[in-house]
Amino acid sequence: MSNTENQNLTSEIPPEQMGFNSRFQFECHKGVKCFTNCCRGISLMLTPYDILTMKNRLKLTSEEFLAIYTKPELLEKADLPVVTLKLLDDDKESCPFVHDTDGCTIYEDRPTTCRYYPLGVGSLSYANELDEKEEFFFQIKESHCFGFEEKKEWTVAEWRQDQGVDLRDEINEGWANLIVRKKSLPPSMILSEETKKMFFMVCYNIDKFKQFVFESSFLERYDIEDELIEKIKQDEIELLKFGFDWLKAMLFDTGQEKFRVKDKS
Ligand code: SF4
Ligand code: SF4
Repeated sequence: MSNTENQNLTSEIPPEQMGFNSRFQFECHKGVKCFTNCCRGISLMLTPYDILTMKNRLKLTSEEFLAIYTKPELLEKADLPVVTLKLLDDDKESCPFVHDTDGCTIYEDRPTTCRYYPLGVGSLSYANELDEKEEFFFQIKESHCFGFEEKKEWTVAEWRQDQGVDLRDEINEGWANLIVRKKSLPPSMILSEETKKMFFMVCYNIDKFKQFVFESSFLERYDIEDELIEKIKQDEIELLKFGFDWLKAMLFDTGQEKFRVKDKS
């Protein structure tokens, strides 16, 4: 499971909070009798970086990837758009990337949620201007998963490192913070449909956001350093992080030093 929101809604027991040093017993491999059971009938939220890596692996534009593989949804409490993986229309509602005997066909680029599993992540609160939030982890013990019967032991930190979620969480952090921050605001703070569309474009449609930055009046409006402009032109991850910063400035009026409006006098 991944950042902040990607908690499996079908978890069957109340989660016990875990920290980085908490230990658990688990292993997943081709020999388990439940192999690929967890890749069917799931609700799998995709993070911005998931979309970026998956669309590149599949050699699709972000628009094409969104149209073929995702479903737009609204994260109710935050009132922000998210995307989930569109499952196949077969009797098991399989993930489009699962193969019965080989498992995940995009394993090196599998989504963050798949990497975290069988752990989930939660946030206790959104604390302050420094984007510090209290995070905790929990085990998702589902009856179809027999990985808990295996003998291998991990700490949460070891699991995160083994599965490559540290890097992903670092890249997605700005997105996760936007969601947690928005959730912590009173429900009366309603975003316009236009703002939600902007959030969707920045977070999930990187090609469109790139067009927006470089082919609209965006760079005429803001006084952005040349070095940064060059960086976001060359590097999609930098562009994504730039987008999160811009959304933060737009939505919450913070961190705006990077987005000074140009003096036209
Ligand atoms: S992306 Fe891979 S690991 Fe994740 S649900 Fe699909 S097949 Fe399973
Ligand atoms: S259900 Fe659990 S043990 Fe079985 S394949 Fe999925 S993660 Fe591995």
